[in-house]
Order: sequence, then structure tokens, then C-alpha cells
Amino acid sequence: MTRLRYFFCGAALLLTLSAGAQVVLPRTKMTLREAEKLVPRLMSQPVPSLGDMSTEVLDTLETQTPGVSILLMADNTWHFWRDPAVAVKGEAFKEAWNTEYASSYNVPLAALPDRINIWVCDRNNQYRCPNRTRVYSPFGTRHHRRHQGVDLPLPKGTPVYAAFSGKVRLSKYYRGYGNLVIIRHENGLETYYAHLSERKVESGQWVEAGTVVGLGGSTGRSSGSHLHFETRFKGYAFDPQWLIDFETGTLRHRLFVLKKSHLDENSRYVPESEEEEVAIYLADTREKAVADSLAAVRKAAEEKAAREAAAARYHTIRSGDTLSSLARRYGTSISAICKLNPGLTPKTTLRLGRKIRVK
Ligand SMILES: [Zn+2]
Repeated sequence: MTRLRYFFCGAALLLTLSAGAQVVLPRTKMTLREAEKLVPRLMSQPVPSLGDMSTEVLDTLETQTPGVSILLMADNTWHFWRDPAVAVKGEAFKEAWNTEYASSYNVPLAALPDRINIWVCDRNNQYRCPNRTRVYSPFGTRHHRRHQGVDLPLPKGTPVYAAFSGKVRLSKYYRGYGNLVIIRHENGLETYYAHLSERKVESGQWVEAGTVVGLGGSTGRSSGSHLHFETRFKGYAFDPQWLIDFETGTLRHRLFVLKKSHLDENSRYVPESEEEEVAIYLADTREKAVADSLAAVRKAAEEKAAREAAAARYHTIRSGDTLSSLARRYGTSISAICKLNPGLTPKTTLRLGRKIRVK
């Protein structure tokens, strides 16, 4: 009779498998931290962005779940594929479905659970970074205004990708956002893609992760081409950088835990005019320009000091040296020598062996 014992991470769990396939389940109460150790680590691992899909589908296998097939790819990988006609009828697309208004939900904050566990990427759902770049204007209060997303600079006409698969809820020109696409995902998350120069999808359409939803632009006034990207749950915006590292393009984890304590009534706010977005971007541009010029001034000063330090010359006082003889000898003046040596005045007695800077 074989008997296997597994001890997990020091947690008080003992799993015994015997010939009779008897499994003794733990009765110990665990803290959340201990329980988290037992959940597969896969959930907290970063996910790289999909690249351009270039591999061919070799074969399609049906599964027992209606509308779900397995695609065998030419590069020896496989993945699940759902029939869009089936996926589009999912439960998540029935609640507060509105193709006209950006804010469609009307859920009070108190009605949300304290912790909302959202699987953002699993075997059915892939991920692609909407636009890989540094974040120009971050989420949060910017210049006394509420910024509900991140601004990601991109040249006009650059493809913008759907981060995850889902159903397009809204695709129209929208005050505050310019050309806007909102996708609702099966886990209830919504992603917003704003200021597009062109929209490539229509509301009601099913999109896969990596579908081009539009082209980057700067709809409205010319404030620099950028993608304004938002992530919302039940209408409440949260920082997209909690989910995505835009610089590397990776998704930070497969399972995202959104805490209610990180949301407030302001998280529901939807900008009412383009001016707000433009003002945030312009103020950040000005702030960055000021920071850049300050940095340039500081760098120039440091370089000057370094040049002067490299040209510095010292003299060790010997018998008979005076400040005027040193000034003559090194082709400088008494006041210039005093300036180079803090505390030195024309009346200071020069001690033998003292090292003073003369240039
Ligand atoms: Zn923005």
C-alpha cells in the first residue's frame, strides 16, 4: 500500500493519499495569507502581451462545451476558441447594457463586496497590451482635476488593441473622450479607449484580445496624440497600472483583486468636456517642460563645477609666501584666491604647510 504525504508551505495542511484514494481534507482554520499560499502561484505571475498573430490554424477540435473549440496552431501551441455567436450572449452583457452613455451602471459603492476577485486572463482569455509605452499622465488627481485613466503617448494612426476579449458596448464620438470605444469583458471589467483618430469596431461586436479597436489620435484640440485608457468595474474607475505595466507591456497578474477601499464616489466620475482632458495633458506637458529645463540648468551647473574642479590648482604655503606673491605667481588676484578658499581673507596669516587653492 502506498502512502504519500504532502506538507504545503508550512501551513497546517496534511493531504493523505492511500490505496483507497482516501483524501483527508484540512480542518484547520487558516488566515487569508496562509490560504493564499495554497492557491496556484500561476495567478500571480505576469503575463506577456500577445504579439502580432502570424501562426496558422492547423486544425479545430470540438469540445463537450457548446461553442468552445480547441485550435491547433502551426507553431505547436493550442488554445481555446469560443464561437463569438455564443460568447456574445454571455451573462455579463445583460446588466446595464447601454450603447449611448459611457456611464451605464448605477451601483452604489456600498453594494460592492470588500474584495472583488477578477480573473483577467485564463485559458479562455488572452491578453494584449493596448499600447506599449511609458505613462505620460498617470491616474488620479492631476492639477486639481480627476483623471480617470492613464495617458499613453503614441503617433497618430498607431493601432490600438483590445486588452482582453469581450463585447463592444459603445463606439462613438463622445464629449470628454473624443472618439471612444468601450469594451465589456466577461468578468465584468470594462476597458475604455479614448481620443482615437478612427474607430474600427462597432457596438455589439465581439472582439478577441489583440483586435485593433481603433487608431491612435488626439480627437479634439491638438494636445499631442495619445491614448487615454481606463479600466472600470461596475462604473468605478481604478488605476490601469495596477493591472498593466505599460512600459514592458506585461499584465501584472492573472487574478486581480480589486479592493472596495480603493474606490470612492469620485471613481464613478465621467469627464463632461474635452477641455478637462486637454487641460490635464497640457498641464502635464508644461510641468514636464519646466522639470526638463530645471534639469538642464542643474546639469549645466554640475558640468561647470566639474570643469572647474578639474582645472583646480593648489599651493602648499612655504616660508615667505604671501597672498600677493601667490597672486602674481599664478596670474590671479588676492580676491580671486580668497573666493576659492572659504574663510580666507587678505588679513589671514598663512600657516606654513597649509594647502590653499589658487585656481
Ligand atoms: Zn487622459
